Amino acid sequence: MTVDLDVAVVGAGIGGLAAATGLAEAGLSVRVFEAADRVGGRMASFRRAGYTVDEGAEQLSTRGYRATWELIRRAGIRRDEVPPIGKRVAVWREGVAHPGLSEPGAVLTGAGLSKRARIDLVRFLAAIRDPRRFDADRPEWTPIGTRTVADYARGFHPDLHDYLFQAVAGCFFGWDTGRSAMAPFACLLREIGPASCWVTYRDGMDTLARRLAGNLDVVTGRAVREVVGGTDLARVVFDDETVTARSVLLCVPAPVAARLYVNAPEADAEFLAACAFRPMLKVSCFLDRPLAVKTSRPAYVLLTPSAEEDVLSGLVIDHEKHPERAPAGAGLVSLLASPRVVPELFDAADDDVVQALVDSGERFAPGLAGATVRNFVHRFRHGLPEATPEALRLRAGFAARPIGTVDYAGDWVLLRPSSEGAVRSAATTVSRVLSRLDSVRGAA
Ligand SMILES: Cc1cc2nc3c(=O)[nH]c(=O)nc-3n(C[C@H](O)[C@H](O)[C@H](O)COP(=O)(O)OP(=O)(O)OC[C@H]3O[C@@H](n4cnc5c(N)ncnc54)[C@H](O)[C@@H]3O)c2cc1C
Repeated sequence: MTVDLDVAVVGAGIGGLAAATGLAEAGLSVRVFEAADRVGGRMASFRRAGYTVDEGAEQLSTRGYRATWELIRRAGIRRDEVPPIGKRVAVWREGVAHPGLSEPGAVLTGAGLSKRARIDLVRFLAAIRDPRRFDADRPEWTPIGTRTVADYARGFHPDLHDYLFQAVAGCFFGWDTGRSAMAPFACLLREIGPASCWVTYRDGMDTLARRLAGNLDVVTGRAVREVVGGTDLARVVFDDETVTARSVLLCVPAPVAARLYVNAPEADAEFLAACAFRPMLKVSCFLDRPLAVKTSRPAYVLLTPSAEEDVLSGLVIDHEKHPERAPAGAGLVSLLASPRVVPELFDAADDDVVQALVDSGERFAPGLAGATVRNFVHRFRHGLPEATPEALRLRAGFAARPIGTVDYAGDWVLLRPSSEGAVRSAATTVSRVLSRLDSVRGAA
């Protein structure tokens, strides 16, 4: 059988592009196949009428994103193209937005936590302080084991669950705290540091993806139908042709990888099946003026915990995140649906989704409906990895899997609900593919 490529990468999200970059730099022939008509996956942005809309990912951090920063440097992106956000994250409680979440000062100011809960916040921060016990690359190693967020939270004042864990995990990851494991969440919280470390790409969250794709062989609008692993080669099957490669990388969410990889080894299939994803639903509102959320200090995210609000999990004030997200004198706000309502709203008509979310948004940003000139709905059936206790239990075995002709990269590989998980797993996959192809060449 003829070999078309050294490596075929399925998916031009940040994981696939990071892996393709490392392998192309090592001198291999690499092609990326992407089903959508543009790159970026869940980190895509679009531009219209002077607005830049981040459809999925919103921000990164100067801490806990080491693989991403290395890639940013290699892509030639300057530090000033990834400026600090410099605004706060606030939590809604009893009619007031409390700024300061995830900052050391929260222990004193509360950021929505009652006085007694702040003592438990200190206890919690002390419990997750040790980087050897809370290593985001090995979330299965923590002393927390496979307990869920809700179960772990029972050891603390209830505010910690209601106004910190649920508020953050519900808004940023779409998690149901009764279903997702605490360990990966605790590792991530320890690594990413306070909101004062958070940054965003000046020109939109797809900046890195676009820059990497510019140096790669990427074919967009090319949906892979299935992937078949073999002893020396693997096949990528499209509706109209089949491509052979020495290695195929599945850089798609786990449920998609499970569907595409028709002869996955049993152990891989077990982990893929356990790696459920949460759907996410978001509405962007183009505003004719820069509305603000009322807080004592400027905030760019308002978390609206389930204890306070049924329909929204939070609001992102994009023009506060970076002024160039909206034209001068205008505004951009994103509304995130609460994990509770996403299942029923996900397939509803756009108008119904917009109405439900904007009506609820009025409570937190008065004047929102009147200031809105246009809306866009963003749906992610596979929004964020859910990090179930079962997936956590199986992860170490999956990480130690033998290297075959088909491998994977994605946030779910590390059970880390962030783009850094995708980039880190891509770096590991690059090493695995290179070592396999080297040993194949050596044997030949
Ligand atoms: C609403 C939301 C907010 C988020 N906020 C943040 C944040 O603030 N910070 C952060 O770090 N992370 C955030 N994330 C997570 C982050 O976006 C993801 O972790 C990261 O983008 C995952 O990258 P990936 O390459 O693993 O997967 P994806 O981005 O999902 O890429 C997979 C690609 O594969 C393509 N594909 C699928 N099927 C096929 C097929 N059959 N053939 C070919 N191509 C296919 C898809 O079109 C997609 O482009 C957020 C995610 C969402 C949904």
